[in-house]
Amino acid sequence: MSINWIETSERVLSGGTVTKDEARAMLAMGGAELTQLLAGAHRLRERTFGDRVELCSIINAKSGRCAENCAFCAQSAHHKTDAPVYPLKTHQEIVAGARQAAAEGSHCYGIVTSGTRVSQGAEFEQILASIREIRSATPIEPSASLGLLDEASARALAEAGCATYHHNLETARSFFPSICTTHDYEEDVRTIRLAKAAGMKVCCGGIFGLGESPAQRVELALTLRELDVDSVPLNFLNPIPGTPLADMRDLAPRDCTRIIAMFRYLLPLKRISVCGGREANLREFQSWIFMAGASGTMVGNYLTTCGRSRETDLQMLRDAEVRVHAC
Ligand code: SF4
Repeated sequence: MSINWIETSERVLSGGTVTKDEARAMLAMGGAELTQLLAGAHRLRERTFGDRVELCSIINAKSGRCAENCAFCAQSAHHKTDAPVYPLKTHQEIVAGARQAAAEGSHCYGIVTSGTRVSQGAEFEQILASIREIRSATPIEPSASLGLLDEASARALAEAGCATYHHNLETARSFFPSICTTHDYEEDVRTIRLAKAAGMKVCCGGIFGLGESPAQRVELALTLRELDVDSVPLNFLNPIPGTPLADMRDLAPRDCTRIIAMFRYLLPLKRISVCGGREANLREFQSWIFMAGASGTMVGNYLTTCGRSRETDLQMLRDAEVRVHAC
């Protein structure tokens, strides 16, 4: 299929949408056609975000021993990995992390805990207290990623001032049973709907390079478009020894740029952030994420793996001629 991607981006700029076939074609582009695809994605990003990009940071507030069996995850109790295992960090540690992230220019700070779902009780109350203090004492937007939600927990988080609930669908519905068998995809979708209904913004994306097909990458993007999520984190598998995907090496740097561009064409107005696995998968192409349409990236460390130094990432932003959107 030969498609003029500049014309496609013009159609999207005037409110048109991209079809499933066009999205699938994007993932097969190479050579000059890939360059044209990225040029269109770049225009779409600039139309909504100008030259500004957003940085986000997370704290792994409670690590390990998760009862779920997500095949990529170092924190699942079903796999034997070297991931740290510790209970919920103190209120002071969590708030100190937010202050540091704000001072370093991140606009969003995610409190992430391992485990299937939020459970009411002392831990949840402490997280709510941390969110309240982050809201009142720092300019950064607090976000939480605590697993599956029920209606009462979603309401409590929103009332405490949690700006965004983060919950990834991880992959396409049709591929999910190959990645996780301990809960159903529909439970994740329900959590997204509950978070939105409670008044929080929703940050929801996935991880690529798990063995999913290109068509399934498009399937995930279409599901997120239908759910109308607010921001989309794109992660690329960094294979962890001890997990079932330890030997999976499915993505080349240009595959990552094709995926980012496809998401930008399908979700032209949404925040799209490149998160885990940037260094391992994009390597020398990391600065291309903005040309491919990303409007942000995660800085600092990830949940169980280390990111690059802050100075290296800031230099990349300067070289890419984008400015950090301060909080
Ligand atoms: S991705 Fe989340 S739910 Fe899945 S095993 Fe890891 S911590 Fe548990």
